[in-house]
Amino acid sequence: MSDIIPRPKPRPGPESLPYWQAAREHRLSLPKCDNCEKFWFPPSASCPHCLSSQFSFLPVSGFGKVFSHVTFHRVYRAAFAERVPYVVALVELEEGPRLLTNIVGIKPEDVTCEMPVEVVFEDIDAEASIPLFRPRGSC
Ligand SMILES: [Zn+2]
Repeated sequence: MSDIIPRPKPRPGPESLPYWQAAREHRLSLPKCDNCEKFWFPPSASCPHCLSSQFSFLPVSGFGKVFSHVTFHRVYRAAFAERVPYVVALVELEEGPRLLTNIVGIKPEDVTCEMPVEVVFEDIDAEASIPLFRPRGSC
């Protein structure tokens, strides 16, 4: 059996670097506005709710629900050849933001909208980890 080709590594920009550094430590941390106190994703230089540029990266629960999902059966990148079929989903966190991610630890056909999920981290290598989601309470 061949080795699985690792996922492409994230290439953080200045705005997303704190997000990826936290992910490497298996923590989910998102920008939260100092003015309106809302979280958002993806990271950006100003709050999309009120346009304030004052914010901090703060931890979130890692709990959410599947907002929408689709199952990929076709191999678009070699790194995913061993993974098909896999689920690409929008997960809505309890704090509000929606993350584009994969649902793991469940058969694709069993994934449903509104399904409770929790974050889990996949290590790409010693420098990078990716936040994924699995059914809540599974391990
Ligand atoms: Zn704001």
